[in-house]
Amino acid sequence: MGKYDDTSERYAYTSALIKDLKASGGRLERGRVTIHVPEQSGFCWGVDRALAMIDDALREIPGRRVWLLNQIIHNPIVNRDLKARGVHFLRGPFADGDGSFDQLNATDVAVVPAFSAEVEDLQELERRAIPVVDTTCPWVIKPHRRTERYVKDGYTTVIHGTAGHDETLASCSLIRHLGGHYLIVHDLVETELLCAHLRGERSLAHFAEDFAGKCSPGFDPAQHLQRIGMINQTTMLATESREVAARVAAAMRERDGEQVAESFRDFDTICRATQDNQDSFLAVLARTELDLLIVVGGFDSSNTKNLARIGDDAGIPSYHIERPEDLTATTIRHRRRKTGEIVVDENWLPAGTVQIGMTAGASTPDTIFGAVVERVLAAAN
Ligand code: SF4
Repeated sequence: MGKYDDTSERYAYTSALIKDLKASGGRLERGRVTIHVPEQSGFCWGVDRALAMIDDALREIPGRRVWLLNQIIHNPIVNRDLKARGVHFLRGPFADGDGSFDQLNATDVAVVPAFSAEVEDLQELERRAIPVVDTTCPWVIKPHRRTERYVKDGYTTVIHGTAGHDETLASCSLIRHLGGHYLIVHDLVETELLCAHLRGERSLAHFAEDFAGKCSPGFDPAQHLQRIGMINQTTMLATESREVAARVAAAMRERDGEQVAESFRDFDTICRATQDNQDSFLAVLARTELDLLIVVGGFDSSNTKNLARIGDDAGIPSYHIERPEDLTATTIRHRRRKTGEIVVDENWLPAGTVQIGMTAGASTPDTIFGAVVERVLAAAN
């Protein structure tokens, strides 16, 4: 869905429709439908930068194979474009082979995705003397620096994030490599479970089962919950991250009294683009009475899922879709937020005049967002 732009010498994903829509105040009325888009949506600075670095690698080192360690970002359309342009994928849904580093040689170039990579993989590339283009977003490096500090000072890192998400996998790998410990909490339910352990309301005998697959190897709750430092995956819902930190801080204060100043540290590592996209979308919800919301982005994209959640939390019917083809005049293929199921619903567009809020995740090209807006307009007319 992108195309090469000779002027910028970049592969571009711009949409005249989205550009004009934002320039005219983010409101487009056509027939019975009015679409409202936020000031901030779509590609963030970190994604633009990562894609530009791949463009540079493809242009400046022709004839060498370029291998992405995994998806560059969580958007299948962008990854498919890269594949069509000759980029190889080591792992993930677009993998070219068996995932083994034996497929690469020293004349190839490896690309670290915007989410970063596990330390073991970076060490393997170094051992094999394979040149690396590192597109890790500087906003992702921020929590890395913070965890390094926590480990050095003897704190366990509690991550508000998703176990198995590439960025969190990289953070956990770094902490393990430094000899530290971590624990991942995904939501307020898991936060409350952690708080119950901190307050002594739940026996530590249950800890291993409560946090199976969500803590570092050898995690001993009696020892490793004594001093806690918080970070968040950069793309979480900012309001939830702040609530998670506040609840853990309160439980630590109950347990440690004034000593909490020593035993607890907090650091907000939500990235600016994620925060801006969320705030901007919330502003649309605040100024308009909306009938439904459509959020466009990869089904695996954490920041897109959290944008979809904003609508759910506000009690507005919300659909998280991935691409224009997900939408016809009568049907909508979307991801149910609570279960993660991909389903097809009918009669998604209410009768009569309709106010629709629309936004796109930080890994969603404007070309895709624009095409979805066109489909919505076509469906209503
Ligand atoms: S969403 Fe934030 S952390 Fe992720 S690539 Fe964009 S700017 Fe970087």
